[in-house]
Amino acid sequence: MTSQYNHVETIHYSTAAIRGTRLTDQTYDSVATPIYQTSTFAVPNCESGAMRFSGEQPGYYYSRMGNPTLTALEERLALLEGGEAAVVTGSGMGAIAATVWTFCKPGSHLIADCTLYGGTYELLTEGAKEFGVDVEFIDLSVPNNLNHALRENTAMVYMETPANPTLKITDLWEIARRAHEYCPEILVAVDNTIATPYLQRPLFLGCDIVLHSLTKYLNGHGDVIAGAAIGSSSLMEQIRRRGLKTMTGAVLGPFEAYLVMRGLQTFPLRMEQHCSTAELVSHLLASHPAVEKVYYPGLPEHSGHELAQKQMRRFGGMVSFEVKGGRSAGAKLLNSLKFCLLAVSLGDAETLIEHPASMSHSPYSDQELEEAGIPAGLVRLSVGLEDPQDILEDLQQGLDKLLEDGQSGR
Ligand SMILES: *Cc1c(COP(=O)(O)O)cnc(C)c1O
Repeated sequence: MTSQYNHVETIHYSTAAIRGTRLTDQTYDSVATPIYQTSTFAVPNCESGAMRFSGEQPGYYYSRMGNPTLTALEERLALLEGGEAAVVTGSGMGAIAATVWTFCKPGSHLIADCTLYGGTYELLTEGAKEFGVDVEFIDLSVPNNLNHALRENTAMVYMETPANPTLKITDLWEIARRAHEYCPEILVAVDNTIATPYLQRPLFLGCDIVLHSLTKYLNGHGDVIAGAAIGSSSLMEQIRRRGLKTMTGAVLGPFEAYLVMRGLQTFPLRMEQHCSTAELVSHLLASHPAVEKVYYPGLPEHSGHELAQKQMRRFGGMVSFEVKGGRSAGAKLLNSLKFCLLAVSLGDAETLIEHPASMSHSPYSDQELEEAGIPAGLVRLSVGLEDPQDILEDLQQGLDKLLEDGQSGR
């Protein structure tokens, strides 16, 4: 099937995002990706049908197992992450669940970082754990913790960096090296949703599988739910055949794949702007007297700053912070903002702000939040692509108001 895909030899990342791989339309040579809005494909004869099902012969036969529009997106994502292959799915959770159900069985040991996206945390605790996977949460930002946790039956090490929502940084190279030194078969999986492959490429740092919620920066327009796994051809084939086809059925629709392809064309450009504005926002927050603490890896006082400088190109578009007065003051701030939209999700053109403890991370109990280092009053901001001045002014007025209300004792 790859013969249909025309690879442009280039090292320039923004060119790769736009033209790196292309599904050539044999009939009209359409420049935009054609949408193959079909569930099934006619096969030339019974023998050929059997061989496509078994994988002996290339060719499409049913869109849950493959579709040309989906393949176009998979090839592009593999190129952008530096992997051999990719599998796209109907959501980020679809990709994560398909990966866990492919490689973890009852009795397998899975080591996960304690700070994770709420849905992933729920999958690992209420899904995998209940089905007999031995899930252990530790703080992987301290690599020594991994050495104490590794066991003979460890199948996977799983993490996010920067982690959602505290933007904690974990040393990917160090974690992958230690896990593989213990046993080369252990799969090191990284959710790269927040960094994106423009800022960080875990496969080049020794990790085995990269996971994405394409819903976020890669699509970037807030109009699609989609996910992906990227890695070696062999691992991706296993995820496709077991995790996607059988265990989850979390297939992506061709139209959604087309939209993500379209979003990818401006992805490097968008990331530069997200990073620039987030840096400005982090400075405003860090200098405002109503703010208790800012969590942004670009700030020198962030505990992962040096490491982020080493493993990321820039520091990303997410900024988390705590205001003085904790949870209730945080809620007051969110309710007083006029420009930032009070909404979960991230990586959209619109600036989105939310309260993890009651929204994106509500699967965590209060005690679990504390163990994961997620303050109950934490506010998570996804800095959008609007004029930076509009974002800064809104935050400024909201924080000033908090200060005034505090002083008047309200
Ligand atoms: C949103 C998100 C997910 C889940 O992705 P969906 O597309 O919503 O299923 C997983 N990981 C991270 C870090 C996320 O931000």
